[in-house]
Amino acid sequence: MPSPLLPIEILSIYFDKHDNRLNLPDRMAQCTPDMKNAVLKVRDALAAKGIDLFLSDMFRSRDMQLQAHIENAKKGIFSPLPGGSMHEAGRAFDLDLSALLKDNILTLADFWEIAADNKLSPIISEPNKKLSEAWHFDCRGSHGIVRQYYRDGKGGTKMKPYEAMAASAILWIGVQVDRFQNQNAAKIQSALIRLGHELGALDGAIGNKTRDAIAAAGITATAEPDILAALEEKLKQTFPEEF
Ligand SMILES: [Zn+2]
Repeated sequence: MPSPLLPIEILSIYFDKHDNRLNLPDRMAQCTPDMKNAVLKVRDALAAKGIDLFLSDMFRSRDMQLQAHIENAKKGIFSPLPGGSMHEAGRAFDLDLSALLKDNILTLADFWEIAADNKLSPIISEPNKKLSEAWHFDCRGSHGIVRQYYRDGKGGTKMKPYEAMAASAILWIGVQVDRFQNQNAAKIQSALIRLGHELGALDGAIGNKTRDAIAAAGITATAEPDILAALEEKLKQTFPEEF
């Protein structure tokens, strides 16, 4: 069983024909349990200050991500191909910056603190509302460990740290990531890295280093589905909020 996505009821930037504000449409309004918890807490923290959280995007299926890639490329905006976005893992949202910053109650820097308190991460380097993607926040959860692993050079250079994190997160909601020939092997590696083991690159190929890491994790099973099941139990114990 992969980590589940849960439906979430949250207001959006969209309106019906009578000018009533709509919730984020069902196909987008899905996220991991830890992200749902974080988003609702942030919404409530903002509401206490009289500020609305309106979202424009959250979950994207592989097809929706491909569409976003094509549409954004026409506008000169970067949006990754399927397999590289935290939106595809139900671990990212885009918010309405003008509603957030309305009446100057909050600055974007203030919001970054509220986000950080709830383990939500921006993807730009400074809280500048003029920067592209200033509206985007991730709930990285344990997949942030994969990002750090790559930042530390332990995964090599074939994937960027963010890409490796996104791939890990997407795999674990049970969505195919095309760059890996063996999805189960890649999931095993993602789990091992998040549990603190080293095995070189997250590449979907089980070699000696991955086998050593499986042994180091105390797993004696040899069939991939059994190894995966054992690792999932360990992930549930270590990161219960993600299940
Ligand atoms: Zn986004």
